[in-house]
Amino acid sequence: MKEYKEIGGVLYSKKTPVKKTGSWRYLKPAWNESKCIHCMLCYPKCPENAITLKKGKIIKRGKVNYDFCKGCGICAEICPVKCIKMVEDK
Ligand code: SF4
Ligand code: SF4
Repeated sequence: MKEYKEIGGVLYSKKTPVKKTGSWRYLKPAWNESKCIHCMLCYPKCPENAITLKKGKIIKRGKVNYDFCKGCGICAEICPVKCIKMVEDK
């Protein structure tokens, strides 16, 4: 039996309380996959580990973990090719 849980590639002890922060969000990151160069700068900067990787690449749109993404916009600010835009989360 696993003794950990994984959120956005980060392992936590199963006993670690994890608070979902997605309910704070009024903006969400919209990712233009065709412009993404998979530089990974956004991934470690996300304070909520909400950006998901698979095989060394940011995976498809919609795979930001919206249970935890609080819409802070750090990923959009740091992206060197500006392929993330913050849009209203309706
Ligand atoms: S908006 Fe903030 S919390 Fe959401 S994915 Fe980007 S850096 Fe992470
Ligand atoms: S910072 Fe921008 S270009 Fe780099 S992996 Fe993230 S979304 Fe893609």
